[in-house]
Amino acid sequence: TVLPNALASNAPESGETNAVPPVAGAGLRIPLVTGGDISYANLDHAASAPCLSAVRSAVDEFLPWYASVHRGAGFASQVSTRLYERTRKVLRRFADARDTDTVVFTRNTTDAFNLLAKALPHKTSVVVFDTEHHAALLPWRGPNVRRVSLPRTRLAAVSVVDEALAACPQGPRLVVVAGASNVTGELLPVAEISAVARKHGARVALDAAQLAPHRRISLRELDVDYVALSGHKLYAPFGAGALIGRSDWLRAAVPYLAGGGATKLVTEEAVVWNTGPERHEAGSPNTVGVYALSVACEQLAANWDAIGAHEAELLERLRKGLAGLPGCAELRLFDAPVDRVGTVSFVVDGFDPGWVAAVLSAEYGIGVRDGAFCAHVATSRLIRETGGEGQQALRVSLGLGSTAEHVDRLLLALRQIVARGA
Ligand code: PLP
Repeated sequence: TVLPNALASNAPESGETNAVPPVAGAGLRIPLVTGGDISYANLDHAASAPCLSAVRSAVDEFLPWYASVHRGAGFASQVSTRLYERTRKVLRRFADARDTDTVVFTRNTTDAFNLLAKALPHKTSVVVFDTEHHAALLPWRGPNVRRVSLPRTRLAAVSVVDEALAACPQGPRLVVVAGASNVTGELLPVAEISAVARKHGARVALDAAQLAPHRRISLRELDVDYVALSGHKLYAPFGAGALIGRSDWLRAAVPYLAGGGATKLVTEEAVVWNTGPERHEAGSPNTVGVYALSVACEQLAANWDAIGAHEAELLERLRKGLAGLPGCAELRLFDAPVDRVGTVSFVVDGFDPGWVAAVLSAEYGIGVRDGAFCAHVATSRLIRETGGEGQQALRVSLGLGSTAEHVDRLLLALRQIVARGA
């Protein structure tokens, strides 16, 4: 019961600033919750990352106290409401948001982009690379959406956005871009794209689903207008994500969900909607989920250097090993080496990725992903560019749960699979 006492001693918070009061019990712990079977090699962090121990402890402390937020005078409801609103501050700080930015809680990145899509002013032109994850590619509809092909250099990518924006009709414009590719782990030139977008008076929405678990993100430094992220990729459980960014379009938009919590007043004649983030959060929110997400964010933010070093070392080991594997071709967006997170997709000549993934799981206790990774255009194009066929590849993604032994086991397994033949 440490948590509620600590919260109760904090004065109620008001306004959306980046100052985050401390919460007792959120000590620095990086260990993960393991299912007891430590021999399982989870090399699929890009799909969903395992839960941090600190997140589980914090959730454990909170579970006896959670209640509906913004609705009750009872102690548990007050605790939940304070925690929920504090969580917005943690998220704002995690994304280094501007003072005027808002944080709307969503289920995940997909939900965040669908919300943003519904909040776009009439006739907003949207420019998006066709290689994006479907969550960033598909929510935008209508004649003013321009899907542009991603070229093979970062410089050319920026030029393509420049040209596409120049060809847009007058009116609001939005560029949507991932921070890191979920297929190749490569970082997109977000800051450069933002600079070009500004020239055209366009806004930028950053898909941080794959970047945020690995690198510090800063709305201010990248000069982007929105960022979307998912808790389950940030070492917290499923069900909570966020859209963080400029409040004007969101304030003016039709509420994403209609219902309780989104309204200020309902009379027989009219409905007055809230203008803050609650406008788009109708219904009882996922208080436990967003709290878990915020604890995970705090843990990551305190450990970026260690996380970066851990992942860089394992990534090098992995890529070196794959380069020596007969018939293995790595998928890459860009010709020149670029900064990247620990995600690698590849095909092995003559081997079905689904079959290889199944053997890795059944015989070696290794979890990887196979398929087209909800980025069908990117995956099939990149496979074609390696000289291969089909739409399916294997993806290995590293994170806090990965060890050198996992990488070595994978490399050994792949060598053995290739040696014995398909
Ligand atoms: N964007 C990228 C780059 C992703 O990798 C993913 C998930 O894999 C998403 C968006 C969608 O995330 P979610 O399924 O949590 O909505």
